[in-house]
Parts: sequence; C-alpha cells; structure tokens
Amino acid sequence: MNFHSISILFILLASFGCNRSECKEIDPEKEVVCFVYHRFGDNRYPSTNVSLEDFEVHLKHLQTEGFQVLTFADAIDYLHSDEPAQKTAVLTIDDGYESFYKNGLPLLKKYQFPATLYINTETVGGTSYMNWEQLQEATDAGIEVGNHTHSHAYFLNQPAAERYDNFEKELKRTQKLIEKNLEEKPETFAYPFGELDQRMLKIVKEIGFKGAVAQNSGVIGASTDLHMCPRFPMSQSYSSIDKFKSKAAMHHVKLIKEEPSTFLATDDQPKLSLTLEPESPLNGSVNCFIQGGDCAVSKNQVNGKVILSISPEGPITGRRRFLYTLTAQKNGRWYWYSHLWIRPGIE
Ligand SMILES: [Zn+2]
Repeated sequence: MNFHSISILFILLASFGCNRSECKEIDPEKEVVCFVYHRFGDNRYPSTNVSLEDFEVHLKHLQTEGFQVLTFADAIDYLHSDEPAQKTAVLTIDDGYESFYKNGLPLLKKYQFPATLYINTETVGGTSYMNWEQLQEATDAGIEVGNHTHSHAYFLNQPAAERYDNFEKELKRTQKLIEKNLEEKPETFAYPFGELDQRMLKIVKEIGFKGAVAQNSGVIGASTDLHMCPRFPMSQSYSSIDKFKSKAAMHHVKLIKEEPSTFLATDDQPKLSLTLEPESPLNGSVNCFIQGGDCAVSKNQVNGKVILSISPEGPITGRRRFLYTLTAQKNGRWYWYSHLWIRPGIE
C-alpha cells in the first residue's frame, strides 16, 4: 500500500468512523427497561415524588422477577456485549435531591441494586440537594454519577447563536467538576427536562458519552438511538405497583424509520410517521394516547413496509411537552412506544 492509498484509507476511516453505539447492531432479543425518579418520601412535591412504600415494592418486584439491575453505563455495555439476553432494568434518579440520599439510597443498599444519579453541579451542596460527601458515599455504594449539565437550564429557550456553545461548555464544566470531586469521569448524560434538538444530540455524542437518557417513555432496544434513550417516569401518579409492573413487562418496538426524528414540534398538531416491518406488533390493533387530545392513526403499505401516520384530532394547546404513546399486544407480550414533542415557545 503506497502513501497515497494509506491517506485515502485514513480519510475514509475518519469520515465513517463512528462510536460503538452507532456501529454495532444490538441483538434484537436484548432490551433494557429504564425508570426515572426524582424525590423519595418527600410528599411536598407529589409530581416528582415516589413514596418509600411504593419504591420498596418496585425493588421487590425487580428482585422477585429476576431482573438484572444495572447502572445505565453498564446497561449500554451489556447491549453491546456478547452476553446472552436477560431481563434488564435500570433505575435513574435525576437532579441529586437530598431525599435520595436520606430515603432512596438506604433502600437500594438493602436490595443491593445499583442506580444512576444525574446531577446538575451548580446546586450540589445547596438546600435540599446532596453535597459532595454524600455523592461520594453514593458512589462508594455502587451508584453511577452522570452529567445533567451545570445549570439545568431550558437550553431550547436560549438564542440559537449561544445555545450550543453554552450547552457544550456546561457539559464540559460538569465533567470536570464531577471528576475533580469524585475522581470519576461521567460516562453518561441526562438532558435537563428531557429536552434536546439534533445539534445538542450531536454535541453529546462528540463529547464521547457512552449513552444518554431523555424523557420520552418506552423500552430501550435494537432501534433506539443510545444517546436519547427512553425512560418511564416514576412519581406518585405513575408509581403504583400495577403501573410499575406493567411498565417493567413492556417490550421495545423496533422501527425502521421515525419521521420527524426530532422532538421539536413546529405546530400545535404535529404529525408523526413510523415505518415498520409488517410483523411489527404495531401493525395490528394499537392503542393510541395523546396528552391533551384524541388520537388519529392511519395505516399504509408501501414497498412491503407499513407506515403508520399519527396525529391529534385537534390542536394541542398550552403544553410545552406532550407525548404520543402507542401500545399493542402480540403473542401475549405488550409493546410500548412513545414520541415526545417539545414546543419551546411555550413556557
Ligand atoms: Zn433534571
């Protein structure tokens, strides 16, 4: 090989170079169900709180059902590995509230389950937030500490000219702060409020995170972009044992294409289109839920593929974030898919 062909090879490798999550196909049998919690046993904030009774029942259920419970970073490694498929769950906790340290962590220790804690470093040590000593103690107990930006800002509301620069600077600042205080560099990221656009996604990949979590709901699997993974929210209104059990038993919906691929809605009646294999569980009787409206689903066959078009029956007003959720049953298994829409113009 002469110098010229070596340099062409190098250019090809550089242009097609991709990180592991984009290169290696995930075994279609492998799925990870991921949950997001915020506060524990702190009923001053019901919309983000789980009661300790409910939380313990969740842990007991995962234990009884034989789930392997991993940190999010370890779950990404599991998806890329040659290990056989097994029931896998991830527990994530956002924002680093002190109630996790006081009430949630002792229960995790009791069940010997790890978890991933996403902290926004600006508030570490502030009133009702964990401090660095408590975070160190959590790390020592097997908790992964991940990056959740420094300020937890609504980045989509910043002018585009500053947004990406701010976002990138904050991610790097938080990486440094966590590494300095806990001597471990975060490997994964959580978008504040689950809000992102395509350039933010690109920045998260370029910084080198193994994976990232958003706040659409669903199960992580073969067709998930591992830098915007879905999580099921667990707070008072969703955290009853029946709801937890049904989410833990959900399966991933494999998509060929999702349009648009962005979460950003350009109007108040956004249309979503999903391309599926004919054997997809969504190519049957589907339940459709739209927050803030009724759902219309139509189906087309194009070149042997199935295209589902989903839209609300009327405009969705006054909601900054809303989900389109589809569920279906096939061969006794339930499947869950959702798409998060964000309208940054709405405060
Ligand atoms: Zn948060």
